Amino acid sequence: MSGPKLADKIARRIRAEGPLSLAAFMAMALHDPDGGYYARRNPIGRAGDFITAPEISQIFGELIGLCCADWWRRSGRPNPVILAELGPGRGALTEDFLRAAATVPEFYHSIRLYLVEVSPVLREQQQRRLGAAEPRFVAGIDGLPPGPLLLVANEFLDALPIRQLVRGGTEWAERLIALDPDSGLAFTQGPESPALALLVPPSLRMLPPGSIVEICPAAAALAASLGDRLAHSPGLALFIDYGYCPSAPGPTLAALREHRPVDLFDEPGSADLSAHLDFAAFATAAEACGAVAHGPVPQGRFLRALGAEARLAALSKRAGPAQRALLESGLRRLIHRAEMGNLFKVLALTSPGLPAPAGFSAEFAAAGTENPA
Ligand code: SAH
Repeated sequence: MSGPKLADKIARRIRAEGPLSLAAFMAMALHDPDGGYYARRNPIGRAGDFITAPEISQIFGELIGLCCADWWRRSGRPNPVILAELGPGRGALTEDFLRAAATVPEFYHSIRLYLVEVSPVLREQQQRRLGAAEPRFVAGIDGLPPGPLLLVANEFLDALPIRQLVRGGTEWAERLIALDPDSGLAFTQGPESPALALLVPPSLRMLPPGSIVEICPAAAALAASLGDRLAHSPGLALFIDYGYCPSAPGPTLAALREHRPVDLFDEPGSADLSAHLDFAAFATAAEACGAVAHGPVPQGRFLRALGAEARLAALSKRAGPAQRALLESGLRRLIHRAEMGNLFKVLALTSPGLPAPAGFSAEFAAAGTENPA
């Protein structure tokens, strides 16, 4: 089942239950077992719908691996340590992470790899690519065993279902999805209610009528669960995603097919759906449960602070001219502020009393987000 058939299933649900929240629509469009976007295909890469940082340059995963190795060394060298990746895609990040980690053998040998992945297609690719590291698959972070934790998630939170709230004449209302007279999907607005204001970040509650705010209950729940774990058990979590800080009005939800934006309601299940992350709301939810948040810092600044240019120079020395050009353009794409360097940000959560990872400390903050490259 794809496109039109999933649209029919969504229409049937609306007829039976009434207008759907965007979160319910997104969950069906992305994860319906038959027609959902992630259920059957590999969406990542040049032949897919979007491309991600670890697919653009090996330096991305390598530097994250070295960042974690350094943090592990400064945090008592726990052995064993759980390395968990959320939404590993084609497995590129962890493959590059582990190659860099192998330069610190004691760290490398202490790693127990866990992958959190919904897509059966991608799970199979991850098993093939990372099989030597004996990954275990779990359904969510609550399925991880207890113990010291390193967690990495790149472009995972942007795929979690969001809700949109709209400021009405006096109160907030929810943007819902209903059927138009031709049975097509269309936005509608639910009733205004004083209770909905409680879902809006406090700094945005007084926005003028017509303003739209996105909230991500699934990201907030993940932040709370992880915050609670980090409060009681040592660990570091790194989230890299595109998003904003402080909280700001939207909307940002977009559909992407073959690297191009398409209409949200055009053949649900056939396009990727993602929204920018409210890093402030995510960090606040984790801190409320006892974790310490560091950043977010712009991705470009983070990678440069970790030595991206030195790594590029080392790799370039061994590369031919064509490969050198690829390495250079790849890294430029990741760190230049007009490309992914500024829109993408890195947030770290740690247990209280444990150090901040490299790339977040004040000495680098002084360098700002400028990127002369
Ligand atoms: N991190 C990878 C892939 C990003 S795409 C990269 O940078 O290349 C998003 C990934 O998250 C995919 O692997 C997708 O299947 C997975 N995913 C999306 N929603 C998920 C959910 N609710 N639970 C687990 N995995 C999910």
